[in-house]
Amino acid sequence: MNKPVLLVVDDDPQVLAAVRRDLRTKYRESYTVMSAGSGPEALAAARELKSRGDSLAMVISDQRMPGMLGNEVLAKAREVYPLARRVLLTAYSDIEAAVRAINEAHVDHYLSKPWDPPEECLFPVIDDLLEEWQAEYLPEAKGLRLVGHQWSPRSHAIKDFLASSLIPYRWLDISRGPDVRALLDASGVGDHELPALLFEDGSVLRNPEPRQVAERLGKSLSAKLDVYDLVIVGAGPAGLAAAVYGASEGLKTLMLDRHAPGGQAGTSSKIENYLGFPQGVPGSDLARRALAQAQRLGAEVLAPVEVTGVAIEGGYKRLKFADGHPVVTKTMLVATGMIYREHPARGVAEHAGGGVYYGAATTEAPAFRDRRVIVVGGGNSAGQGALHLARYAKDVQLVVRREHLQSTMSHYLIDQIDKTPNIHLRPWTEIRQVEGDGRVERVTFESVKDGGCQVEEADALFVFIGTRPHSDWLPPEVLRDAKGFVLTGRDVIAAEAYKRLWKESREPAPLETSVPGIFAAGDVRAGAMNRVASAVGEGSMVVRLVHEYLGVT
Ligand SMILES: Cc1cc2nc3c(=O)[nH]c(=O)nc-3n(C[C@H](O)[C@H](O)[C@H](O)COP(=O)(O)OP(=O)(O)OC[C@H]3O[C@@H](n4cnc5c(N)ncnc54)[C@H](O)[C@@H]3O)c2cc1C
Repeated sequence: MNKPVLLVVDDDPQVLAAVRRDLRTKYRESYTVMSAGSGPEALAAARELKSRGDSLAMVISDQRMPGMLGNEVLAKAREVYPLARRVLLTAYSDIEAAVRAINEAHVDHYLSKPWDPPEECLFPVIDDLLEEWQAEYLPEAKGLRLVGHQWSPRSHAIKDFLASSLIPYRWLDISRGPDVRALLDASGVGDHELPALLFEDGSVLRNPEPRQVAERLGKSLSAKLDVYDLVIVGAGPAGLAAAVYGASEGLKTLMLDRHAPGGQAGTSSKIENYLGFPQGVPGSDLARRALAQAQRLGAEVLAPVEVTGVAIEGGYKRLKFADGHPVVTKTMLVATGMIYREHPARGVAEHAGGGVYYGAATTEAPAFRDRRVIVVGGGNSAGQGALHLARYAKDVQLVVRREHLQSTMSHYLIDQIDKTPNIHLRPWTEIRQVEGDGRVERVTFESVKDGGCQVEEADALFVFIGTRPHSDWLPPEVLRDAKGFVLTGRDVIAAEAYKRLWKESREPAPLETSVPGIFAAGDVRAGAMNRVASAVGEGSMVVRLVHEYLGVT
């Protein structure tokens, strides 16, 4: 197989030669550097690469070119190679055009000319983008392949696990052609054994649980130590931040997640408001970076491992798991976030994982190319989900109970939705029923205003409403509010049971729960801000409090 290509586009021969020279110096071993003198020439080259089955890792295009501007070249290149990273070269005076391009052409980065020295101004950006591309890209004939039925909940569970564990794989729907059937026959897999996971070495896992997949992929699911300083339950932004600080400050730190690192943020197609990422960052990318950072600094991470209970034994906490031996820790962070509530409409439960999905737009979107899907919810997560699905589906119906999105969704998302022709807002509407034979085929919409119903064809329902905290696994000593959110700090002191439960001579620390040494951070905490940045902030803060606690006990 040929090396992946980096394609540079500029009408100025001198600039073109300079970029080409710099890129070759650093990347020639692993990539082929190609160049084009205009947009049409670059797009022709991209199509030619595609027809040969070659990979395009990155397009770097100058903005100001006669005939076709750089942002147009990048937008068009995306249609041919959706995963290729796109970089715009701009003069300082063109920054406005660059920002527009980020929003309109989904450009990954803009570089201001000149970029001297390349070691500081060019290579770190390119390294970062190529690392992201490598994490997503899978050569045609290589890697993991998952074969199954699109409407099978088990297929969805494995896809979701692989995607959120950031393991590249290729999804092959059994109904999509004779090649897939031939592949199964060659691997000796029967229909009743689907979904099947086919490995590069020819081995097969038949109808596996996510846990078996993790074990087969060499992920350890047992803790290395008997006692930890800090065990973090939940590897969303709050847990990941605590793992980074805990490990970097020398605490014996273990982080567990029942699913995979990333949490809700990991399911977001693009987080646009997290500090330091001017062009937004896909949630999976943020999770991948944070996980790598936590592990490099020495945190131990186990997933999928579900914590089912905690026993308080003197100053120690003993964590129990759905599978495996308990783990003992001096302090614990509850960072288990939130989960979507089950939608109450008729027929939803029967189709869960088989056409009804909870917040799984990034995992399932490609399967709904040219189909009609429904997104339920008016919050930012629903907006992001709808925009992501609109890249694939022919029609996305966004269903909300209110008149509009203004009071529930951020302005930047409303703007993008307005500009996306295949997203249609359905105000004053609820979903009453979902029907279909083994898959979603029809949905009944009900008007909130007059109760009138309308049945329409649809292929999937993506639910983004009604969250509840993941806190039912905690013992009663950890106080929660009426909705199940964990009380910390002053809220603990204000609780009725405070005097009965709290026997320390000091008051609970700001993020400490009603059990000394158990802390809570992020969305699971009463009064949380439900943002990536606030979860990260709280997770980071907890480590300081853990130090103080360990210092005094
Ligand atoms: C689709 C979507 C888009 C979003 N976009 C944005 C955005 O653009 N900007 C923004 O600021 N915020 C956004 N948010 C909100 C943001 O993602 C959350 O506020 C943030 O993820 C909360 O982090 P957390 O660590 O508290 O919890 P979570 O992210 O919910 O993570 C909790 C983790 O705990 C694990 N867990 C739960 N129970 C157990 C158990 N018993 N044992 C082990 N593990 C367990 C879960 O598997 C999960 O991984 C978005 C949310 C969604 C769903």
